[in-house]
Amino acid sequence: MAKSRYLLLAVLLILVTGCTSCGGGGSASPPVTAPEFNRDRAFADLEQQCAFGARVPGSQAHEDCLAWLQQQFPGADQVMAQAFTSPTPFGGPYDFHNVLALYGRAASGEPLLLCAHWDCRPKADRDPDPARRDEPVMGANDGASGVAVLLEIARALNASAPPRPVVIALLDAEDSGKEAVTGYTYDGFCLGSEYLANHWPAGLPRPVEGILLDLVGGDNLPNPRCPPRFGGNNYLDFPFEGESMQAHPALVRTIWDIAQRRGHTAFRRELGPTMVDDHVPFIEAGIPTIDIIDFPPPEWHTADDTPEHCSPDSLFEVGDTLLQYIYRGK
Ligand SMILES: [Zn+2]
Repeated sequence: MAKSRYLLLAVLLILVTGCTSCGGGGSASPPVTAPEFNRDRAFADLEQQCAFGARVPGSQAHEDCLAWLQQQFPGADQVMAQAFTSPTPFGGPYDFHNVLALYGRAASGEPLLLCAHWDCRPKADRDPDPARRDEPVMGANDGASGVAVLLEIARALNASAPPRPVVIALLDAEDSGKEAVTGYTYDGFCLGSEYLANHWPAGLPRPVEGILLDLVGGDNLPNPRCPPRFGGNNYLDFPFEGESMQAHPALVRTIWDIAQRRGHTAFRRELGPTMVDDHVPFIEAGIPTIDIIDFPPPEWHTADDTPEHCSPDSLFEVGDTLLQYIYRGK
């Protein structure tokens, strides 16, 4: 993920927290009982992505993971790899691919976007040890965690037809940011999401709203080598994110309400950082998208962003919440 601006949006906080009975939009499709989210199967997908190696642009691991991702959408109405080429602040030009899958094409509800980035940062430039800052980031949390949740959701969508179309977008080239790249907006971050937002494929339903997952897999254990920094802490928590509250406060409220009802305590009703992350290009393109993000975990952009600092329980808090939202219909 990218960087924060730490804006205080007190008025929006009141908007989000002040009305729990206002409802969350229409209900063109009847609700359906949500399938169970299998946390262990999801965690296995987090580990599998890391088993390819760090999925940094131009690497064999990046290529291998792309081929694997495209095989992970059983029963989808459509799976495609949206190709584009760009340099990054770390080098290139590189070949990139957003992996897109559609479920529920025929459903009558409003199309929903679910997204996460699958690439890794080329250098662990926030590692506490200067000698390790040229190592690639493994991205167990920063990348693989969000993808793992979405792959398990894909299996649920295959098992039980959703009441609304769902587009899953696994975004490439999020995490090579540092400085400006010609033709892109966010200092080299979020290249894949900006490309997709500006080149939505013909024939793929255009979502009316979206949910981004980033850094959703961290555990609740201190890491002696990586103390909390940049306002972070040692535990999983998802406070309200500023851009999300501006773009779609009703969706923030609904998701945090569901999480509370399901006992998922990581979803906290307090204002957190405002992020430049993959949701912003979609917001700019007219698809109001919220960001579920724990920022920053202690291992963020370090050589310790590995599976042993992640937890299946964290994936479950997010995946279970999303399935409850999807199957309530809209
Ligand atoms: Zn990152």
